[in-house]
Amino acid sequence: MKTLLMSLILINMTYEMPKLPYAHDALEPVISKETIDYHYGKHLQTYVNNLNNLVPGTEFEGKPLEVIVATAPDGAIFNNAGQVLNHTLYFLQFTPKQSSKEPKGKLAEAIKRDFGSFENFKKEFDAAAVGLFGSGWAWLSVGKDGKLVITKEPNGSNPVRHGYKPLLGFDVWEHAYYLDYQNRRADHINRLWEIIDWDVVEKRM
Ligand code: MN
Repeated sequence: MKTLLMSLILINMTYEMPKLPYAHDALEPVISKETIDYHYGKHLQTYVNNLNNLVPGTEFEGKPLEVIVATAPDGAIFNNAGQVLNHTLYFLQFTPKQSSKEPKGKLAEAIKRDFGSFENFKKEFDAAAVGLFGSGWAWLSVGKDGKLVITKEPNGSNPVRHGYKPLLGFDVWEHAYYLDYQNRRADHINRLWEIIDWDVVEKRM
């Protein structure tokens, strides 16, 4: 009975939009209400809808998002699952009221250990995000060896694809910044540091 109930729950499982812990205009002027309306309300909603349409009847039905992103072959299911995971982590890592401009605790210690200083980490992360050609993501993750690592992920990929644990991601698809910054990707990236919720990022470790 319990097994049947479990499988019914899994069959009915759908992938859902993350609930934003802030109002759409709360991240201004770093990210405008208009950008949140489109990026969260239209782009992410489309990825969620696509995934829910694509998965039923496949081997991925009922599987957690991370498992799909880690194991699906390149194609529509992987692309949409990756973007749902990416954007869920992305939108939940922001806050209009930073408790700290820098990470604290074990995250701060790990950054100092693996990058020398927070300033140097930001410099390396900015370079990855600004230098990524085309559409994709820059990520800070915990690697398989337990060390922090910065990666550039093309299109909708995510560090779970390499067996890493993603902590912080910057979206450098043009839809993330074009309404507010047009082609000035570096300006957008520089300002994102003002709205990072370091407590959220540290809890992902
Ligand atoms: Mn995006």
